[in-house]
Amino acid sequence: MDDIYENAKRVLERAREAARRAGVPEVTVVAASKMNDAIRVRRAYDAGIRYFGENRAQELEAKLREGAFEGAKIHFIGHLQRNKVKTLVGKVDMIESVDSLELMTLIDSRARELGTVQPALIEVNIGGEAAKSGVAPGKLEELLEYAGKTPGISVRGLMAIPPAGAEENKTVRYFEQMRKLFIDMGAKKYDNVTMSILSMGMSADFETAIACGANMVRVGSAIFGERHYT
Ligand SMILES: *Cc1c(COP(=O)(O)O)cnc(C)c1O
Repeated sequence: MDDIYENAKRVLERAREAARRAGVPEVTVVAASKMNDAIRVRRAYDAGIRYFGENRAQELEAKLREGAFEGAKIHFIGHLQRNKVKTLVGKVDMIESVDSLELMTLIDSRARELGTVQPALIEVNIGGEAAKSGVAPGKLEELLEYAGKTPGISVRGLMAIPPAGAEENKTVRYFEQMRKLFIDMGAKKYDNVTMSILSMGMSADFETAIACGANMVRVGSAIFGERHYT
């Protein structure tokens, strides 16, 4: 448990330092807290973490009921199933994993039903992996264009998870492709889109991601330790 506190402090410090080196004014560390219970989440909070990312709706709801995220912002970072839209919209501060027109339509109508606006990022499948979520880079513009018709969603930027286990120079290339998309799409000034957040980088590569322009990183195991899947 003490490890979580020390690890979280260290990750915040490393992110701050990487941001300083990259000339990025501010980097948000989202602690990916899946499979870690409320007590462990609070330990990270005590160390200064103010953003948590969950990737399963059920787990998120259970921890919400336990007050795990009190005083912090919650991001949904996992694959978003259509039938979970209803539970998540209005309950999370950001959905980082929007990747289809269909999801946009569902989120938009749920948000409007609740009289709220749901902040979101568009997830890009930058490695073109068949089994991965995210919109293909070539289809990104279609989604950004569509944001003009979904006032219940506020698109704030892009998210990506490059292929796992790639060599560092390859990962850097994916990060750089993301930065280019982020800049190019921002320049196009789509209605109802503000390209202000670029979410990429995890435990193994968050400093590299920041050097490549990320201003939001999602860090799990470097804070909470290795996850043990059963
Ligand atoms: C779990 C998770 C992370 C963090 O992964 P680590 O390698 O443990 O830092 C980041 N992003 C998403 C979407 C995740 O599900």
